[in-house]
Amino acid sequence: MIEKFEVLKRLQSLKNKINELEASQERMKQDVQKKKDQIENEKAVAEKKHEEKKSVQKEIDRKELDLKTNEGELTKYNVQLNSIKTNKEYSALVSEIGSKKADMSILEDEILNTMSRLETTNQEYEKATEHLRNEEESLKNLIKSVDAEIKEADEEIEKVKKEQEKYIDLLDEHSLKHYNRLSSIKGGKAIVPVIGNVCGGCFMNIRTQTLNALMSSKDLVFCQSCSRILYLDENND
Ligand SMILES: [Zn+2]
Repeated sequence: MIEKFEVLKRLQSLKNKINELEASQERMKQDVQKKKDQIENEKAVAEKKHEEKKSVQKEIDRKELDLKTNEGELTKYNVQLNSIKTNKEYSALVSEIGSKKADMSILEDEILNTMSRLETTNQEYEKATEHLRNEEESLKNLIKSVDAEIKEADEEIEKVKKEQEKYIDLLDEHSLKHYNRLSSIKGGKAIVPVIGNVCGGCFMNIRTQTLNALMSSKDLVFCQSCSRILYLDENND
C-alpha cells in the first residue's frame, strides 16, 4: 500500500504535467495566430501597393491624354500660321506655339518621371506579393506541424488523465476533497514538503506539534499558515 502523501504527490505531478502540456498547446496556437495576423498586415500592405499602382497608371493616362490634346492644338496653330494676315497676329500665334511647346515638354518630363515611379511601385508590389506567397506557404506548414503536435499532446493528456484516475481510486474521499480544493486555489501546489522545519509552500516555520503529527500520524497534516498538505521530505531531514 503506497502512503497517502505519495499518492497525492503523484497526483500533483500528473496535474502539473497536464498544465504544462496545455500551456504548450496554447503557445502553439498563439504562434499560429501571430503568423495569421502578420500575414493579414502584409496583405493590407500589398493591397495598398496595388491601389498605388492603379492610381499612378491613371496619372500617366491622364498626362498622355493632355499631351495628345496639346499636340492637336499645336497642329491647329501651325495650320492657322499659314493663313495669318498681320505681323501682330503672326507673332502672337508664334508666342502661343512657343508656350504650348514648353508646356508639352514639361508634360513629357512628368510622364517619364511618373513611368519610372510606376516601375518602382510595380517592383514593390511584386516583391510584396512574392513575400506574401512565401509567408502563406510557411503558415500552411506551421499549421500542419502545430496540428500534429496538438494532437500528440491531446493523446498524452488523455494518458495522464487515465493515470490520474488510477491514483484517485487509491485515495479516500476526505483526502481527495482536500487535494482538489487546494490544488484549484493554491496554483497546483496542494502538497508540499517540509524542509528544515519550513513549509515548502509558504516558507513559514512549522509548529512542533505539526511536526510531531507529521511523524506519527497517518492522517493528512496541514500547514497552519497556508493550509497546504504537508509531508516530510526524507532527503532533506
Ligand atoms: Zn505553508
